[in-house]
Amino acid sequence: MSKFDFDLFVIGAGSGGVRAARMSASFGARVAVAESSRLGGTCVNLGCVPKKLMVYASAFSSAAKDAVGFGWNVEPPTFDWATLIANKDREIERLNGIYRGLLEGTGVQIIEGRATLTDRHTVEVAGECFTAETILVATGGRPFKSEIPGHELSITSDQIFHLEKQPKRAVIAGGGYIAVEFAGILNGMGSEVTLVYRGPLFLRGFDDDVRTTLAEEMRKRGIDLRFNTLIEKIERSDDGLAVSTSNGEVLEVDEVLSAMGRTPNTFGLGLEGAGVELTDRGAVVVNEAFQSTTPNIYAIGDCIDRIALTPVALAEGMALAETLFNNNPSTVDYTNVASAVFSQPPIGTVGLTEAEARDAGFDLDIYRSSFRPMVHTLSGRDEKTMMKLIVDRSTDRVLGVHMVGSDAGEILQGIAIALKAGATKATFDRTIGIHPTAAEEFVTMRTPVE
Ligand SMILES: Cc1cc2nc3c(=O)[nH]c(=O)nc-3n(C[C@H](O)[C@H](O)[C@H](O)COP(=O)(O)OP(=O)(O)OC[C@H]3O[C@@H](n4cnc5c(N)ncnc54)[C@H](O)[C@@H]3O)c2cc1C
Repeated sequence: MSKFDFDLFVIGAGSGGVRAARMSASFGARVAVAESSRLGGTCVNLGCVPKKLMVYASAFSSAAKDAVGFGWNVEPPTFDWATLIANKDREIERLNGIYRGLLEGTGVQIIEGRATLTDRHTVEVAGECFTAETILVATGGRPFKSEIPGHELSITSDQIFHLEKQPKRAVIAGGGYIAVEFAGILNGMGSEVTLVYRGPLFLRGFDDDVRTTLAEEMRKRGIDLRFNTLIEKIERSDDGLAVSTSNGEVLEVDEVLSAMGRTPNTFGLGLEGAGVELTDRGAVVVNEAFQSTTPNIYAIGDCIDRIALTPVALAEGMALAETLFNNNPSTVDYTNVASAVFSQPPIGTVGLTEAEARDAGFDLDIYRSSFRPMVHTLSGRDEKTMMKLIVDRSTDRVLGVHMVGSDAGEILQGIAIALKAGATKATFDRTIGIHPTAAEEFVTMRTPVE
């Protein structure tokens, strides 16, 4: 008999924690998971899922406009925020139940409440102590807010999913993917949206052609993008909130969404007391095997601050369970992780950006195509799709693929498999396209633009 209550105690039932808990249990470990909020974590409750449902909701307004050119007679549609939020909540409750079933089905004990470490083998939840041979920190991240005067009047992505009323006028502060996605969501629902970002262009880290194309397209849809601009203060006004910017303007709005990034959720967990080293940003320092500086304490997911995406947290949870309880030492390969931004139009991306490839010293061929997608020849919408291939001239290997346009996330998932398999430009060229699609452009670009 082990001297511990559990073989593995997981703190946080989000993407990474649930995967690690249930896989470990399926390999025969005795597992508990503590969750202070709702099962499924950020992705299910306050991230990917509700966000994507809201993206779908917001896209119907442009679909209705586009339908006219195809012969439809569409009354100007109206949108009811409360219906969407209620339907979205119902779906999330269903998913919470599925997560409970997945955990209980593999014999994982769910412990409700906030967990803290009292020593390297003991976790306290609501006054009760549990011991475990191995502890896994999978506590995710939380939104970061800058301390400008009046910041308490702003909301974060955590709150926007539960607002009672649609903000008809909104300022979004930030330039990351969450800021861009909510700008599109609210704009599609008919709100007036101003996005304020301190840098010269949003989506730092994405390919420059992607960034400029999306900025152009968002402006065409009526989103007011203010770059090189700071929010200096937020005050209550007669009519909502008054947002003062560094350009000397005052924007009158109903809500300010602060989307200025996320920090690892490790504060007050008792990690330092158990000898676990944290970075300056509060991320748990781990080695390749996700082991912290205290050998029986591991960490995965957003709280280790590598790539903050659900499929990455899932892969880390899987690798850890394989290593610890299936006698199969596993790591995660972080190269060519594809991702999407569910902006309108969306972005899909995998591999190196042109700037990253040049900085790494590659001699490059760049293939780029910008065209009006077929659907808009009749809809009349002035929207361009942009596709780009970054190719290493000396080996012909495709180093990066980027797209802004309809279904970019869906298309890039397939392309990511090709890159993972080491596809060269010649492989792309030998591939026969699917006609008529936008995606076929990826296999028909023949002449480098640079
Ligand atoms: C608005 C938004 C949109 C996003 N969209 C996407 C997307 O489209 N695609 C994508 O791949 N990723 C997206 N993400 C990121 C994705 O949600 C995260 O990368 C993913 O959820 C990380 O999983 P995790 O297991 O590390 O942490 P989380 O899913 O955050 O889970 C951590 C869990 O730990 C719990 N917890 C924290 N502290 C304690 C404690 N002391 N005791 C008990 N429980 C605790 C939390 O309540 C939470 O449930 C989005 C994130 C946000 C905020």
